[in-house]
Amino acid sequence: MLRRAHDAGVGAVLSIGIGEGPAEMHHARDLCRQFNGQPGMPRLCASAGIYPHSTTEANHGALVKLDQLLRDPLVIACGEIGLDYFHEGAPHDVQRDGLIRQLEIAAARKKPILIHCRPKDNTVDAWDDLFTVVEEHWARTALGGVMHCFGGGWEQAQRSLDLGFLISFAGNITYPKAQPLRDVAARVPLNSILVETDAPWLAPAANRGKRNEPSMMVETAAVLAGLHKISPGEIASATTQNFCRLFPAVSLNASE
Ligand SMILES: [Zn+2]
Repeated sequence: MLRRAHDAGVGAVLSIGIGEGPAEMHHARDLCRQFNGQPGMPRLCASAGIYPHSTTEANHGALVKLDQLLRDPLVIACGEIGLDYFHEGAPHDVQRDGLIRQLEIAAARKKPILIHCRPKDNTVDAWDDLFTVVEEHWARTALGGVMHCFGGGWEQAQRSLDLGFLISFAGNITYPKAQPLRDVAARVPLNSILVETDAPWLAPAANRGKRNEPSMMVETAAVLAGLHKISPGEIASATTQNFCRLFPAVSLNASE
């Protein structure tokens, strides 16, 4: 899978370290240790975090583990963290408390955050609660972050940009019914855009329903390039530059 990503032109992969809960939070970092530096592979880095619905397990031991992982240079970000009111899971106040505790740890370790925010359909309460927490507990760190798998409207995009966040789009932007999301993506400045898989979910249209993987992200990037009326090479260069600005420790050639 990593070789296919490399062959498709993917220069770097940020592997999400949430596992099925805090017990697996280190797995993404371990993948970096296993595969980094091998020829024909993308550059690998990892995140670590406690996913919103896993915050019921955000006990002292899990938070200590997160703190230790965020000290590792291979772990460049804290996430996915955030709020998910779409699926039934952890109570909202537990999610919020778990998010705040992780923001404190990420701030102490000076690592940007990867936000997962999903409201119930046709509501924005998760977004409003998220912005309240981020504005109170994170904005002053100026460490920034990523709105991962962005699915909000323009108002949420604008608030994210005002906070200095990058906005990351996944394969769902290629789906026929996603025109409202494409309209938002067309308005997000090129210097604030990232692309991602959200693997194993949201394989782009040509492979919809299959297990998503990084090589397929080329299709997502091509759709974004079309929306911004630029070439695939230009969107690749822009997203690489944006990534390196947020994560200066990761050096990549913009040509990747
Ligand atoms: Zn997510």
